[in-house]
Amino acid sequence: MDDIQRKQNNENLISGIYETFKPMVIDFLEASEKEFKPRILYGYRSIQEQNEIYAQGRTKPGKIVTNAKGGQSFHNFGLAIDIYPEIGGYNANFNRLGEIAKLFGIEHGDRGYIDLPHFQYRGGLSLQDVQQGKRPPFLDKYNNQLTKEQMEELKKIIADLKTNLQQQINKIQNDIKKLYNRVSIRKDENIKQEKEIKNLKK
Ligand SMILES: [Zn+2]
Repeated sequence: MDDIQRKQNNENLISGIYETFKPMVIDFLEASEKEFKPRILYGYRSIQEQNEIYAQGRTKPGKIVTNAKGGQSFHNFGLAIDIYPEIGGYNANFNRLGEIAKLFGIEHGDRGYIDLPHFQYRGGLSLQDVQQGKRPPFLDKYNNQLTKEQMEELKKIIADLKTNLQQQINKIQNDIKKLYNRVSIRKDENIKQEKEIKNLKK
């Protein structure tokens, strides 16, 4: 996979992860680019996809690749990525990669055991918290970014403002039209009066 394809692949997979995790991953990949050329193998996984890979090596052929069933992995909440370093492959210095990740608030490994390609963001939450709908917030340095919900709210406010403004503009245009009509009626009357006066003077 060449650099352009790899970066496109990374962008696609980043677009599926949870929004507060995105800027961390973008910065982490950038910082490790030179040394590792990281490629994201997995980002978000649906519960169904998770169950399918859980079956691998158990009820389906293949090697066991995960200990998590659907809903038991941070991947299922868009809070984990698996990384393959194009430089070094599986022999790359993952500890070093883990150290870089840590600089950006990202944990290396999964729930206590070291799963080399796995990196996640919990923000102090347990898996159970996340299963119950809690999500880690933006880190302070990314705090100027809006969440999806805030973005939707902002869009709605702007749409309402637009509608409101259009109504106001329509009303003003109507008022101007009315005023103009009144003025032109007055003008006609004036002309008529002047004519009558002229006639009187004859
Ligand atoms: Zn993983």
